[in-house]
Amino acid sequence: MSTGPNEFDLIARYFTRPAPSGFLGVGDDCALLKLAPGYNLATSTDLLIEGRHFFSDVDPKALGHKALAVNISDLASMGAQPLACLLSLSLPDVKADWLKAFSDGFYALAERAHCPLLGGDTTRSTGGVIINVTVMGQVKPGQALLRTGAKVGDDIWVTGTLGAADIALRLLQGRLPANNDLLKACRAALEWPEPPWAFGKALAGIAHAALDISDGLAQDLGHILKASACGAELDYPALPLHPALHGMDADLVQEAALAGGDVYQLCFTASPDRSIRIQELADRAQCRVSRIGQIVAEPGLRIRGADGVLIEPSFIGFDHFS
Ligand code: ADP
Ligand code: MG
Repeated sequence: MSTGPNEFDLIARYFTRPAPSGFLGVGDDCALLKLAPGYNLATSTDLLIEGRHFFSDVDPKALGHKALAVNISDLASMGAQPLACLLSLSLPDVKADWLKAFSDGFYALAERAHCPLLGGDTTRSTGGVIINVTVMGQVKPGQALLRTGAKVGDDIWVTGTLGAADIALRLLQGRLPANNDLLKACRAALEWPEPPWAFGKALAGIAHAALDISDGLAQDLGHILKASACGAELDYPALPLHPALHGMDADLVQEAALAGGDVYQLCFTASPDRSIRIQELADRAQCRVSRIGQIVAEPGLRIRGADGVLIEPSFIGFDHFS
């Protein structure tokens, strides 16, 4: 795309930092990266559009973080170790403060997750801001955590907590009555997701199937069930609700936990005889994990309450995914 002098300056100022040794970063026609011998390349890309995936007035630092985080969660859910990323930006105008904050948020996560920014593209947008991030990672052949891998008898696990991002989104959209304390407690889950990349990588070769929760636990788990031709029983009281949800309306909590999106934590399945090992790996990665159910042969998703009785979720759109 046409790149005026302004844009070259912009790239040099905000999106050029030294590449790790053995890698070639920003400045040439291609980036070069080094895979460990014998590994496969895992790659994924996500597009974020202003007004659709983020609010126009969102903190640009949080946006930079989230643009990378939602991609790193795809690597984590495959059991892949982050290697590098590319960033394409389409901007209606050049706002120095916005770009500085965005790139600071982006680089802070890139550095923590060892996922250096090696290149991208920058264009002028005729509409709003459009952000595209591509991540690359590495995983040993045969060890990637595919959606097709779940087996009858597997435990179902989730990382982190559920529900807070959905509550924050409802508050910001005015779908819940304004409540500043609640927004304060839930907002980080929506705007600063922390995908468990170190733990995801550790699950390679141990878990059977995994994905990152972007559209809601029930729907996303449904993708694993469909791909693996099996069903699941969830133990509702075992779901790791975000603490801010305690004491809220039970139906709302149920919908936020089961159908709330933007979680960017992992749902994975593994043989029960791996549970001690999984807990050890989670402790080492300082990642919360919860066992929330089992994979069963009978198709569909069933959810049991404290008394073992089936729960019929009251929210629209819950169709058992059978
Ligand atoms: P091309 O003409 O091949 O599109 P550009 O002039 O657009 O190259 O980009 C010059 C260099 O800057 C390339 O190395 C490219 O990868 C990098 N680059 C462009 N935009 C970004 C960005 N938003 N973030 C990181 N690197 C970028
Ligand atoms: Mg270009």
